[in-house]
Amino acid sequence: KTFKDLGIIDSLCDACTALGYKNPTPIQEQSIPLALEGRDLIGLAETGSGKTAAFALPILQALLDKPQPLFGLVLAPTRELAYQISQAFEALGSLISVRCAVIVGGMDHTTQAIALGKKPHIIVATPGRLMDHLENTKGFSLRSLKYLVMDEADRLLDLDFGQIIDNILKVIPRERRTYLFSATMSSKVESLQRASLKDPLRISI
Ligand code: AMP
Repeated sequence: KTFKDLGIIDSLCDACTALGYKNPTPIQEQSIPLALEGRDLIGLAETGSGKTAAFALPILQALLDKPQPLFGLVLAPTRELAYQISQAFEALGSLISVRCAVIVGGMDHTTQAIALGKKPHIIVATPGRLMDHLENTKGFSLRSLKYLVMDEADRLLDLDFGQIIDNILKVIPRERRTYLFSATMSSKVESLQRASLKDPLRISI
């Protein structure tokens, strides 16, 4: 199968080709058609499976259809993973000038507030620093958000981000699509899933 067979539009297929992605990986092949149908998804997949593009491509395709700022939020457990995800969005979205902001702990607060003020399309964040900006950065809200991704959900919860994620869920729209990716399915991940996804389909590879 090709990305086009999965329903991906030409400009994004071209970006995949430019990155050397000839064919979709198994997680991409399973999740992309369902995501394009508008379903919430739980993906049981490890790093290295191609899970980043599995969620980034459907979000970018929806963004192209109706461009708006603050369209997607990806929560990641670590700074390093957040930067990797943002790079993937920028690479896949390069032909369509997607703007991403990375909001993580340990980096300059003011620089991040300025980046948020420029209304990026996609925010990739660690939960603590994102909540800090939601509380303290004037004019910043996620009331128009359309897509939420929780990547490496098991690690997010192991790092005790559960309470902060609950608080983030309270200030983003209920009407949104949600994707949860995790390497393992613990009872904590199950309860986060029940609190945040609607009628999700489960994909494992
Ligand atoms: P991830 O699991 O998202 O961290 O991706 C692992 C690696 O696979 C990254 O370096 C991606 O650039 C690469 N990758 C993702 N999708 C594909 C694909 N369809 N074909 C080849 N490489 C891919």
